[in-house]
Order: sequence, then structure tokens, then C-alpha cells
Amino acid sequence: MAGSEDQKGKKSVKKTPCAICGGKLRNRKIAIDRLVKNQLYLFENVRVQSCEQCHEIWIPGKEAERMDLAIRGSLKPHKKILVLENASI
Ligand SMILES: [Zn+2]
Repeated sequence: MAGSEDQKGKKSVKKTPCAICGGKLRNRKIAIDRLVKNQLYLFENVRVQSCEQCHEIWIPGKEAERMDLAIRGSLKPHKKILVLENASI
């Protein structure tokens, strides 16, 4: 989809402001948990962007997609994923 620069790495990171408040987004790594069908999926070190102002977390489409695939079991996760059955949060 993008140009040919993608393969070289993360040179060109788009600076998209927060869609809610227009604040600056910072790259962070956080743990994200998702409860699907009584199973808690914990994704650690997910690269997200968080807003400096309103602290909203934005999950890049790539990461969200990967999590969805992992949850469906159609992708072996690169990242450490813990699946806890009937976990009480
Ligand atoms: Zn914001």
C-alpha cells in the first residue's frame, strides 16, 4: 500500500494527532487484555500510541489485527500471550 520505504524500517512514522483532543501521541508499550468468550487474552508489550493530553490509547491497526488473529487462533503470536481461563479480574 505504502511506498517502497516501508521495508527499510520505521523511518517514516506518521505523526497523527489525537483524534479526540488533537494532542500529541507518544509511542508506548503497554499490556492489553481482552476478554473473549470467557477467556482473557493478555498481550504484553503491544506498541500503541497514547495521547499526552487525554491519555487515550490508540492501538495501531496492525497491532489490533494481530491481536484479533491471535484470538481467533489463526496466527501464532510473536509476542508473549497469556491465556487465562475464567480469570477473575
Ligand atoms: Zn487526546
